[in-house]
Amino acid sequence: MKRSQIVQQVFPSALSQKLKVDRDALAPNRSYGVPKFVERGYYEDMPFVCKDCGVIQVWRNTQQKWWYEVMKGDIWTIAVRCRPCRTQERDRKATARQIHLAGLKAKDGKRDRTED
Ligand SMILES: [Zn+2]
Repeated sequence: MKRSQIVQQVFPSALSQKLKVDRDALAPNRSYGVPKFVERGYYEDMPFVCKDCGVIQVWRNTQQKWWYEVMKGDIWTIAVRCRPCRTQERDRKATARQIHLAGLKAKDGKRDRTED
């Protein structure tokens, strides 16, 4: 069975809607060429396998539009994690960052660090 057929069975609504790409709203792109969705001119629901837990997810066209056009996400990035794993990853990074910052403070308590 083809991948697309499996996806159609798991998510009947997937791949059915088209959402126009607003090129002017995309983040500046310095590399050659454009990703498929830009070339195509519209966003499609995109199935992907979460890299952490392996669950099949659909990255909704509305979420893609939000990511690329509102958040100005890099046009070459795509979703790789499901929502729970993304939340977990964000928490992990936040914790790692706090530990890192705490370490800097301990090392260099006298100087004021207002930057990142
Ligand atoms: Zn996951």
